Amino acid sequence: MNDAAKEKLTMERDLPRALARSEFTLRYQPQLDIRSGSVVGVEALLRWIHPEFGLVKPAQFIPAAEQSGLIEAIGEWVLSTACVQACIWQGSGLPEMTIAVNLSVRQCLNPRLYDMVARVLSDTGIDPQRLELEITESVAMNSAEAAVANIRDLKAMGIRLSIDDFGTGYSALSQLKCCPVSKLKIDQSFVRNLGFDATDAAIVRAIIFLGHSLEMAVIAEGVETDRQLALLTAYGCDEIQGYLLAPPAAAGDTPELIRRLRIYPIAVRKPSEKRNGLPTAVPL
Ligand code: C2E
Ligand code: MG
Ligand code: MG
Repeated sequence: MNDAAKEKLTMERDLPRALARSEFTLRYQPQLDIRSGSVVGVEALLRWIHPEFGLVKPAQFIPAAEQSGLIEAIGEWVLSTACVQACIWQGSGLPEMTIAVNLSVRQCLNPRLYDMVARVLSDTGIDPQRLELEITESVAMNSAEAAVANIRDLKAMGIRLSIDDFGTGYSALSQLKCCPVSKLKIDQSFVRNLGFDATDAAIVRAIIFLGHSLEMAVIAEGVETDRQLALLTAYGCDEIQGYLLAPPAAAGDTPELIRRLRIYPIAVRKPSEKRNGLPTAVPL
């Protein structure tokens, strides 16, 4: 066995005990409204501090957690921890923000999802309107009955829903109009080559147009450069998230980060510009 295979096996062996040993932690990444230049939300991103390997990213353990079913308990811990943190920040005078939490496919299909979320809302006291749950495109659009029922029930609780990594799944667009989602998150693979790749630019503009036509907000993920931000602004995108603003930060560092971003020098769009509809003569 090579090192990578040994590491994978060790992680799978250790994963069931990680929650009890308090080895999980959350990082928070700000989401900025392009028009106002203010931080309107943060996304909670899971990390595992493994005793041997140090900080492990979710791509390395979420698939195993999903397969074994451990994702249910881990997901509840994530939701609860993020909601408690959001309430602490709100109480400390930070501006009102949404806290976004990722849901795995397995969680979305679980008929007990509603009960779990209701329990966390009641335990933490968070305003449901401040909570956004990110679901994947495949769950939202090719959905099994269980997922559709969950999405509707969560929406009825007043929680916002967004579709993560939009554009990468197999979409049945007809589902989008039945799915009570308030935000599309453009996948970072389309954002990465903005300014260089005309096809990606066309896809980004089409997603923004689609979202706005369905009265959804649109956020671009993985924004790393001023050029990408300038293009997204010209295309009428509503929000951005990415290393250009900040990488995901520890809870203790997040308030300072948000205060610093308050003075982010962003170009405010002129009021005369149309929100809906693709701007004409936009550079690539
Ligand atoms: P995601 O929800 O699409 O999160 C965005 C990912 O992009 C994060 O990776 C973030 O650190 C990274 N990112 C942010 N800005 C930039 C940028 O400018 N450039 C680049 N190259 N990357 C950027 P991360 O934290 O490794 O998470 C990966 C995925 O793992 C997430 O993708 C999400 O699908 C999943 N995940 C994270 N936390 C949770 C969780 O609590 N539960 C579940 N079920 N899945 C989670
Ligand atoms: Mg996400
Ligand atoms: Mg994403």
